[in-house]
Amino acid sequence: MQTAAAALFKDWSGYLKPEDISQLESAFHFSEQAHEGQFRQSGEPYVSHPLAVANILAQWHLDTQALTAALLHDVMEDTSVTKTEISKSFGKPVADLVDGVSKLDKIEFETHEEAQAENFRKMLLAMARDVRVILIKLADRLHNMRTLDAFEPEKRRRIARETLDIYAPIANRLGLNSIYHELEDLSLIHLYPDRHRVLAKAVKAARGNRREVVGKVLDTIKRKLKGAGVEAQVHGREKHLYSIYRKMREKHLSFAQVEDVFAFRVVVRDVPACYVALGTLHSLYKPIPGRFEDYIAIPKANGYQSLHTTLFGPFGTPIEVQIRTEEMHKIAEAGVASHWLYKSSDTTLSELQKKTHQWLQSLLEMQSQSGDSVEFLEHLKVDLFPDEVYVFTPKGRILALPRGATAVDFAYAVHTDIGNRCVAVKINQELMPLRSELRNGDRVEIITAAHAKPNPLWLNFVASGKARSRIRHFLKTMHFEESVQLGERLLNQSLTALGSALAEIKEAHWDKFTRDAGVRSRQEILADIGLGKRLAAVVARRLLPAGEPGPSEVTAPGSVIIRGSEGMAVQFARCCQPIPGDPIIGIISKGQGMVIHTHDCPVVVKARHDPDRILDVAWDPETKKLFEVSIKTVVANQRGVLAKVAAEIAGAGSNIQNVAMDREDGGDYTDMFFTLQVSNRLHLAQIMRGLRRIPEVIRLTRVKG
Ligand code: MN
Repeated sequence: MQTAAAALFKDWSGYLKPEDISQLESAFHFSEQAHEGQFRQSGEPYVSHPLAVANILAQWHLDTQALTAALLHDVMEDTSVTKTEISKSFGKPVADLVDGVSKLDKIEFETHEEAQAENFRKMLLAMARDVRVILIKLADRLHNMRTLDAFEPEKRRRIARETLDIYAPIANRLGLNSIYHELEDLSLIHLYPDRHRVLAKAVKAARGNRREVVGKVLDTIKRKLKGAGVEAQVHGREKHLYSIYRKMREKHLSFAQVEDVFAFRVVVRDVPACYVALGTLHSLYKPIPGRFEDYIAIPKANGYQSLHTTLFGPFGTPIEVQIRTEEMHKIAEAGVASHWLYKSSDTTLSELQKKTHQWLQSLLEMQSQSGDSVEFLEHLKVDLFPDEVYVFTPKGRILALPRGATAVDFAYAVHTDIGNRCVAVKINQELMPLRSELRNGDRVEIITAAHAKPNPLWLNFVASGKARSRIRHFLKTMHFEESVQLGERLLNQSLTALGSALAEIKEAHWDKFTRDAGVRSRQEILADIGLGKRLAAVVARRLLPAGEPGPSEVTAPGSVIIRGSEGMAVQFARCCQPIPGDPIIGIISKGQGMVIHTHDCPVVVKARHDPDRILDVAWDPETKKLFEVSIKTVVANQRGVLAKVAAEIAGAGSNIQNVAMDREDGGDYTDMFFTLQVSNRLHLAQIMRGLRRIPEVIRLTRVKG
């Protein structure tokens, strides 16, 4: 072990100072002693593993703190060494890193979704604090994957699955391309050994068959670029197995159908040369339409930049080409680690660091808003599998959104307030529905209204984590506030019935009540009442002092006034569709809050056995909302009768929400069902009077249930 270590220290001294090396030597001895007597599955002394992990990190030129932590990364977990000891010997930053990695190690991934989500969340939060923690963790996983052969197939499969689900996407998001590909390929070997074997064999055969073709294309490209005066390095490259496998699975292709197994990479000196090279190649072979991507003008979220194009090759095979500069190539391979690998003052590098930092901060923000880990994971998955569309703001700013993003996602990406208040959208100057999916290059203009609010239905189509979490957050807060307001009114009514009033309840009684109920605030009790989780009558009785004699004169309770503006706390029953003017009754149901029915609705009759859940309610004379109501008309079959009926309804200032027709074959009459929006009974009566004046209208009734 000593000799292996000594050889590595010699390697690392290529970029580290002598005093760094001596710290690493002592960390190695510390680790070796701590792991004394422990062995890996393969039979090697345990310390060979932390040494290998440190060596992976040294390939990215990570700093001494990170390398020291890598050498010690398993000591807290597997031996009796404490954080304080590490801190004393190697300093607090190293101890913090080891502690961060150890916390991630404790995570036993389970198949259970919630547990996994929770673990994933912890991992990302650790990463948000110091990205080196996750780099050590990724190197740790990479070495474990490289040495997975020693384990039972069952355990290999479990670890490979976890690597594919969690570690590979993180490596991808951080732009650590070479690790990302290696993790995926190793996972394929252990998860599906047979498929891997067949695929590897097919690729090998194809390599033999196409060697000549590839060689020819390579020569032609080189010659042509030279002729155009472009200094370039051109390589043929084989795609990694997992990406071929993924393509076959996603597009249901056989191996023979996956044509672009080979690809070419052109590395040139600067950005203008990239475009010259592109033009040169397009004049050599025809490009396949729709396959060109300019990731130089618009980099991917993980900082990746290149030009991608696919050409019709000389023998009918498509040829994929990536064109990039040396600098872009470095970032494409090492991503966020290029910060350590190339300690240049290059602006693209610091820009990448800044962007990664921003992304991690946004995770923390999202975390503090959603709390629930499954929800958090759902938000995050979108960010981790970046397949993006790029659209423009009216001022020409470019926004990257996940594929499938809609106008609402765009609105939230611009600003939370724009999202919360958006009512309409213009896409390329044309008015479109908010749910419209955006396409590359769309120019998007959001139209807002001061009092607009997010619609819960948006959750069915938004694609970005940000939009989803902001809408949920808004709805939760709003629902809570509305429930509190309703709860307050319901409680006051119950107290009035008992000869008291909300304003008369003493602080002390409230305090005792909330303490007994085990809740933090009065607001929570009120919200519970509004949501139907607690009954106002019960709360009211308990709030009144027990010793005091009951009120001699019990006042009539009075009704709770329904304004129609209670929002989600009050719902209007679908069965009887009450409208202002109808005699109504409120039924409190658990979790749903209050549902308003008409007096004569069968649901009300059934609910009579539970009087505490039934409430006396009355309409506010000034309701502002429009209510849905259904009518049925029987009309004589005449040309244009539907148009006449519809025109009459619209003329009376109502909206038609829905129309259905039922016509007997060869009959003289048709049944028409309309769902209308009306402000009250008077309004409905006006509409019905108007309809009766139409000669073809034979019968007309309001429909309930
Ligand atoms: Mn380890």
